[in-house]
Amino acid sequence: MTQHLQTFIAGRWRDASGPQYSTEYPADGSTVASLHAATVADVDEAVQAAEHARLQPSWANLKRHERAGILHRIAAGIRARGEELAQLQRLDNGKPISETRALVASAAGTFQFFAAACETWEDTLTPARGDYLTMSVHEPLGVVGAITPWNSPIASEAQKMAPALAAGCAMVFKPAEITPRMAIELAKIAQQAGVPDGIISVLPGKGSVVGDALVKHPLIQRIAFTGGTSVGLGIQRLAAEKLMPTSLELGGKSPTIVCADADLDHAVAGVLFGIFSSSGESCIAGSRAFVHASVYDEFKRRLLAGVQALRVGDPADERTQMGPLVNLGHRASVERYVALGVQEGGRVLFGGKRPEGGLFDRGSYYLPTVIEGLPNTAQMCQEEIFGPVLALLPWHDEADLLAQCNDNVYGLASGIWTRDYKAAWRIGSALKTGTVWINTYKLFSVSTPFGGVKLSGTGREKGRLGILEYTSQKSFYWGLNENPLPWAGA
Ligand code: NAD
Repeated sequence: MTQHLQTFIAGRWRDASGPQYSTEYPADGSTVASLHAATVADVDEAVQAAEHARLQPSWANLKRHERAGILHRIAAGIRARGEELAQLQRLDNGKPISETRALVASAAGTFQFFAAACETWEDTLTPARGDYLTMSVHEPLGVVGAITPWNSPIASEAQKMAPALAAGCAMVFKPAEITPRMAIELAKIAQQAGVPDGIISVLPGKGSVVGDALVKHPLIQRIAFTGGTSVGLGIQRLAAEKLMPTSLELGGKSPTIVCADADLDHAVAGVLFGIFSSSGESCIAGSRAFVHASVYDEFKRRLLAGVQALRVGDPADERTQMGPLVNLGHRASVERYVALGVQEGGRVLFGGKRPEGGLFDRGSYYLPTVIEGLPNTAQMCQEEIFGPVLALLPWHDEADLLAQCNDNVYGLASGIWTRDYKAAWRIGSALKTGTVWINTYKLFSVSTPFGGVKLSGTGREKGRLGILEYTSQKSFYWGLNENPLPWAGA
């Protein structure tokens, strides 16, 4: 049944002012929600209301422990509705229920973590170099914008909302057009937890309209963006016009390295999880597996056995490991990449097509796909596919391996499978990526900063210092001299 979604704009639950549109369940193409897109006028109303609300005593005068209390209540609110939120997110983007449950749990944990960080974060007295005291304090930046993609909404939105609220900012959200629900639900939970009206608004709709207006709005002091690199670059250009700070969490083409001495059972499990969980719709998907030539055949044999055993199917089924892709358009794009890989000389070892029959014929499903025989320079090995497609590449020499891994515009994440801790350190230090996983993959912790290098982004989210991204630093000098400044009396 289609549900009509209202959104929260400038402290009021209402329809946005733009045209009505609907969202679809990727598993069977049915319509799940209808809502109105926001307009440029809605953006202005939300930002003006946020600017007003953040200056009111009900928000501006809260002590850090009081804001922390609100964040704890948001975490509790998410947990109280955990199963419902997980099911709603499944309907939005078709992720398997086991994954959406984990994302909801991680969102609650993010608020809990930033509550603790907020309450314990200290401003500093800096060493004085004369008869004065010097202090460095952090003030909230003001109204900040958040723009998020469709692949892990509640987690990416929590990663932005929690530190922004902890810092004392107000936040206007632009979730992905096709996955608006989690931001709307988070706004509801935040309101119930005591966040004053106006501090959070959610504006669904097109990036080129709503996102663009948000970035350009003169009162927006920062943009926290997660999404594709080309959109991120456009945002950075606009941000430069007003010297606005941004954090940009962008695309990836992450290499996973299997060394000759790796525990192959662990490596196979990690590579499978790294690329095929979330149907490969993950910025950190390990889409290039470099396997040492001496273990290549054995690794390939075990990997293919593992791929065959993956449970592709209904995202509502707890046992499903891979659900559908987010929509038919995205599946067509994945298919074009696989065709390109074949054209470039790749051999499809598994998948390379849609599964057939029943639900598979109604949803946007695609089989996990493994391709070998391509050089790292092939377009399929260079560009982000954002789907369940793994390129398998043998390697012989460490220096050449590192050159190939780093020969990519992206630098988000990488993985190394080895029993040799010195090799892990040496290789990990040489990889130009924001995260390196050693004998594991795709582990995430809110206490550890996350972000990319090169065209995978700038800035970091998560970690204690994540709050500081939403603050500006101010220095105070307190004069302690008994006599007037000497210059005045000279
Ligand atoms: P996208 O860049 O198309 O869209 C992301 C968001 O930006 C959406 O809300 C969209 O509406 C908005 N947007 C689009 N054009 C805009 C514009 N001109 N101005 C302002 N906003 C605009 O990305 P997507 O297809 O939703 O998501 C997939 C991409 O996100 C992949 O490249 C993936 O790697 C990346 N991603 C990165 C991370 C990370 O943490 N590094 C995490 C998840 C996804």
